[in-house]
Amino acid sequence: VVLGAGTAGLNAALQLARRGLQVTVVESRRLGEGGARWDNGVLDWQYTRAGIAPPTPDEVHDTTGVTRLYGPADAGPVTLQSPTRHADMRRLNDRLVGLCRAEGVAFVDGARDVVVSEVDGRVRALDLVGCDHDDGPSDGQHGDEVGARALHLEADLFVDAAGRRGVLRSQVRDLAQWCPPVARDLLCTASQFMFRVADVDGVRRFLDRCGLRAGDGVTWVGLDGGFSALAVTVQPDLERVSVLTGTIASGSWGSGRTILDRARAENPWIGDPIYGGDGLIPLRRPFARLGAGGVALVGDAACQVFPAHGSGIGTGLMAGAVLAEQVVAHPDPGSDEALWAYQHAFHAEHGGGLAAYDAFRRCSSAIGSDGIRRLFTSGLFTAEMGGSGLDQRWSEPTPAQTVAAARAYLRDPGLARAMVPWLARCAIAARVGAASPAEPDERALRRWDRRVARLVGG
Ligand SMILES: Cc1cc2nc3c(=O)[nH]c(=O)nc-3n(C[C@H](O)[C@H](O)[C@H](O)COP(=O)(O)OP(=O)(O)OC[C@H]3O[C@@H](n4cnc5c(N)ncnc54)[C@H](O)[C@@H]3O)c2cc1C
Repeated sequence: VVLGAGTAGLNAALQLARRGLQVTVVESRRLGEGGARWDNGVLDWQYTRAGIAPPTPDEVHDTTGVTRLYGPADAGPVTLQSPTRHADMRRLNDRLVGLCRAEGVAFVDGARDVVVSEVDGRVRALDLVGCDHDDGPSDGQHGDEVGARALHLEADLFVDAAGRRGVLRSQVRDLAQWCPPVARDLLCTASQFMFRVADVDGVRRFLDRCGLRAGDGVTWVGLDGGFSALAVTVQPDLERVSVLTGTIASGSWGSGRTILDRARAENPWIGDPIYGGDGLIPLRRPFARLGAGGVALVGDAACQVFPAHGSGIGTGLMAGAVLAEQVVAHPDPGSDEALWAYQHAFHAEHGGGLAAYDAFRRCSSAIGSDGIRRLFTSGLFTAEMGGSGLDQRWSEPTPAQTVAAARAYLRDPGLARAMVPWLARCAIAARVGAASPAEPDERALRRWDRRVARLVGG
């Protein structure tokens, strides 16, 4: 049983079903309305690793990939060809629902309350209230309807894919102690909307001022705290414009929505919204414990988000593939051994990069807006650095990049003093974060988690 029909839950369901498991997805909203309802930047390599085809033409916007990055006070710019594609998550959600249906996945939607039944510390059943049961299981074993608006579901494995707050993780003792609520200074408040262009001459003047063509993107980083962004992409038709904003949710910097409103006030050519949304994104590295008591975590519920820009789609999709690969290799997919194997495999594949970029994100907050400006003016922020961040893959600098960075540090020794210790921690975290204990051993996991926490700063 998978709880949550966002992209992470749907791909977990799809990958489990493709490997022969009988799967039911439970969603609290109406089916087809789950998950992100806005455009997200996504990467082809992550879709491929997740076991699904890269974004289809009807899911992506026909943008050029040219991205111009400015720091505060218009420092820079740095221009690069971004690997990111802008995809409409509503369409990806529809595609995943269709693929799941083709594999025989059953859906339950409108589920309001979830009551967990545990036997000997393992979740064995969920009771759902207020749900609509749609072509659900009919063999009388997997699930039994107990009333028109209530459902009793038994399963060997439960997947918590219910987003940032999770639903099951706080109800399972062995998981709850590993998965504390994410503090506000580790959350990104973000908004993304597609707007109509209200004034074509105005948008042309904006593009000329930035030296861009329609379809190119421009992003200001560091305007609202060291970790913050305002990204504007005028669509090639000159009729629509995408605006994405984000900052830390501690309250010091307003919210994604206040940054968006300011951008609209400063650019009156941005017209009415067509679609989009706001939300909070966890920015910390994934929880150390990704499964226990018959429950696996995927997606935002596991903090499987690329921390340097709060991108959770790709990592959440890939987690579903890792989960399915690991648990089907065990006779009991919800056993502690199966869940530990998933956790170890996920951290081995993604934990290093996510830990390194967790430290990098904290560095950006620590150096603040002025530090971000100096990254641009010193020449330390390069197209290579921006490109590997956008590609969500940690890479060690080449000798030539190290020499170029040393020259930049000579131009701004104060920045070097602030940055070098952080970058050293990123590099070590990239190795340590990938090396979680392979065998079930809670104390070893606790030691590893503390070591990663010391490196990344929390
Ligand atoms: C404005 C904004 C812009 C973003 N931009 C990007 C980007 O450019 N690139 C990127 O990769 N990521 C981006 N993200 C992050 C990304 O959207 C999330 O990381 C991703 O959607 C998480 O997917 P998920 O499936 O784990 O959770 P969600 O999308 O939150 O889905 C969880 C699902 O669980 C359901 N649910 C909740 N409670 C229950 C319950 N009790 N029972 C049943 N179902 C339940 C919810 O209704 C929802 O459908 C952005 C986020 C925001 C807010």
